[in-house]
Amino acid sequence: MKLTALNSTDAKLLASIATHESGHLIVASAYGLRPKAFIGGPRSAIVKHDHCTLFELAAISWAGVLAEDLTANRYPDRTLPACELARGNLTGWIAAMIAGGLTELKAYSSPDVAGIASHPCTFETARAAFQILTANLDLLREFAGELADESWLRFRLNENDFANAERLCALAQ
Ligand SMILES: [Zn+2]
Repeated sequence: MKLTALNSTDAKLLASIATHESGHLIVASAYGLRPKAFIGGPRSAIVKHDHCTLFELAAISWAGVLAEDLTANRYPDRTLPACELARGNLTGWIAAMIAGGLTELKAYSSPDVAGIASHPCTFETARAAFQILTANLDLLREFAGELADESWLRFRLNENDFANAERLCALAQ
């Protein structure tokens, strides 16, 4: 039960982060990597999963921002170009996202950038994540809703340091 509603800005941030992390979750699950997601606050979230190949890591890393754009939930602070994401323009979307080289991806989190950069076939890894996500859009929305529900109180408290997500993750192990 929710005792206090989030203000609309926080609700939007939470929906965006929950969608982003759920993107990582869905692709990591598809690879059989037993992922778990933890949201610590508006700027604090993490997905842990089993050891994987560099291709899988890059695809999982792409999945966060892909999930945001597939559901029109992009995190508001990102400086990435506005570019509609659909099956017909996936290549254009990827090209736009990396137009400035991977430095442009600094608008993502640094672990995501490192993950994407860990495999040289950037278009293929993005495409692999896109295929998995588009085949599981209902699940993506379901996971995002659940993750947002279980995380809303931490948002309310605005505990926004990354250590908080790390702590939750450690507690769950
Ligand atoms: Zn991410």
